[in-house]
Amino acid sequence: MTRPKIMIIPVTPFQQNCSLVWNEDTRIGAVVDPGGDVDVIRKAIDQAQVTVEKILLTHGHIDHAGGGAELRDQLKVAIEGPHEKDAFLLKDLPKSGAQYGYQARAFTPDRWLKEGDKVTVGTLEFDILECPGHTPGSVVLFNNAHRFCFMGDVLFQGSVGRTDFPYGDHEALITAIRDKLLPLGDDVAFLPGHGPASTIGEERRGNPFLTGVS
Ligand SMILES: [Zn+2]
Ligand SMILES: [Zn+2]
Repeated sequence: MTRPKIMIIPVTPFQQNCSLVWNEDTRIGAVVDPGGDVDVIRKAIDQAQVTVEKILLTHGHIDHAGGGAELRDQLKVAIEGPHEKDAFLLKDLPKSGAQYGYQARAFTPDRWLKEGDKVTVGTLEFDILECPGHTPGSVVLFNNAHRFCFMGDVLFQGSVGRTDFPYGDHEALITAIRDKLLPLGDDVAFLPGHGPASTIGEERRGNPFLTGVS
């Protein structure tokens, strides 16, 4: 089984890890969390010579979803995710964009995701794990065959997602990490929405927010 390729494309003033993931044999792939800078994302897709068949979203925050509508229009592909509980954030994208000085359009995804759903990208398959707390509709995309996740803003190297929003819930976030992410196994690698990649094992052992949790 050829390992999938992942190209990280930092986008928006938040340097969000937008990703292009694809199968090198078929060159079919997906864009995960196109928060903005759609021209930059398009260049990366061209450079990698990948056919993008869908857009995947981990949650509704502007730095992850802000470019979704525009990229969908340009590529004529479907948007899958996040969970429907983030609908209010997608509706508010124009307002959040204005706050940070860039344009973002509101949209409804072609498919909402929920616990237990499966998402395919060519021959790649991802299990959907609902991990609320950072936002109510945050999901993690887990590829069991190659043992890695697209994490969104749930868990970071040495940190966890911020929950100081009116809709944030730190306890729910820690519960989701404990009950859904730690059991995936220490060998599972993940790419968070910001900063460097890590593994579940590294965070289980060294993440100060998870001390005494497992
Ligand atoms: Zn976020
Ligand atoms: Zn983010």
